[in-house]
Amino acid sequence: MLRILIADGMEEVAVKKLKDMNFDVVEKHYEKEELINQVKNFDVLVVRSATKVTRDIIDAAAETNKLKLIIRGGVGLDNIDVEYAKVRGISVRNTPNASSTSVAELVLGHIFSMARYLHNANITMRKGQWNKKIYKGIEIEGKTLGIIGFGRIGRETARKAKALGMNIVFYDIVGPKMEFREYKYCNLDQLLAISDFVSIHVPYDKGERAIIGKEEIKKMKDGAYLINCARGGVVDEDALLEALDSGKLAGAAVDVFVKEPAGNNPLCDHDKVSLTPHIGASTKEAQRRIGEEIVEIILNFFEGSELNSYVESI
Ligand code: NAD
Repeated sequence: MLRILIADGMEEVAVKKLKDMNFDVVEKHYEKEELINQVKNFDVLVVRSATKVTRDIIDAAAETNKLKLIIRGGVGLDNIDVEYAKVRGISVRNTPNASSTSVAELVLGHIFSMARYLHNANITMRKGQWNKKIYKGIEIEGKTLGIIGFGRIGRETARKAKALGMNIVFYDIVGPKMEFREYKYCNLDQLLAISDFVSIHVPYDKGERAIIGKEEIKKMKDGAYLINCARGGVVDEDALLEALDSGKLAGAAVDVFVKEPAGNNPLCDHDKVSLTPHIGASTKEAQRRIGEEIVEIILNFFEGSELNSYVESI
């Protein structure tokens, strides 16, 4: 029987669907040492971002040659050593389409929060303060939003922000494309120089330096805002902190951190930062779509193999 380990949780309707197909589904988060012992007993490993699928886990899985497929429920594959899995004959898939709307909506939430001090007002009013004069915000209509990385989430953010009257400019490593001609393409320096808000939507490559560091922040407009709903490592957190303290940046929004949970990261204690605990894809709709995609990936992957006999037999 096909054995599936769901290590970081999965939407319950999709789990039920897998169980109804008579797969042996185990929903359990194992710490690293235990995962090393357990992983060899499964054909499929489903993770989100909490489980790090490192070389030693892949080596342990390869001992029995049973594990065939690792699925990341979500987009970023930075918690999985994809290349090494390939070397050991294990396929890796993700669910790239499921969360774009949710992440884009979170970005807009942060933009509104920074523009109108919502994150601060929520805290200070609970402490009995009435800071009406302090919270003099800005309108976002007419402001320029610079999007770095014009993939699924970047484009969805652009579409929604445009509908709110923002001017959109974008930069992507692959260059401009005819199909996005309704938005202005810039190189990175131009984008940084003209944007009131800069939002980053690129994958994180562990080997690379942060896309936004000290030098890039220097090139940004004074009083601009930076949003990171991509991955912790794409922004240099020390440089960001310095820019907030010096007043170079008016604010930042951070959903993702170099180290998560973020614990005592000084960004979490900064009143110019609108914070969320890596919840870009944490909506009912995104989780439902992720669950559906995972079921589909499993069915397609094992189609024609032993899976068929299970499906036919139910
Ligand atoms: P995508 O692959 O569709 O798009 C990424 C885009 O970035 C591509 O167009 C690519 O060409 C471009 N790019 C890559 N490197 C670049 C660079 N150095 N400079 C400029 N452009 C570059 O990915 P997506 O679905 O849009 O996801 C983007 C990011 O969002 C990923 O890092 C993903 O991990 C993150 N994400 C976060 C959450 C969350 O919970 N906060 C949820 C989903 C995805």
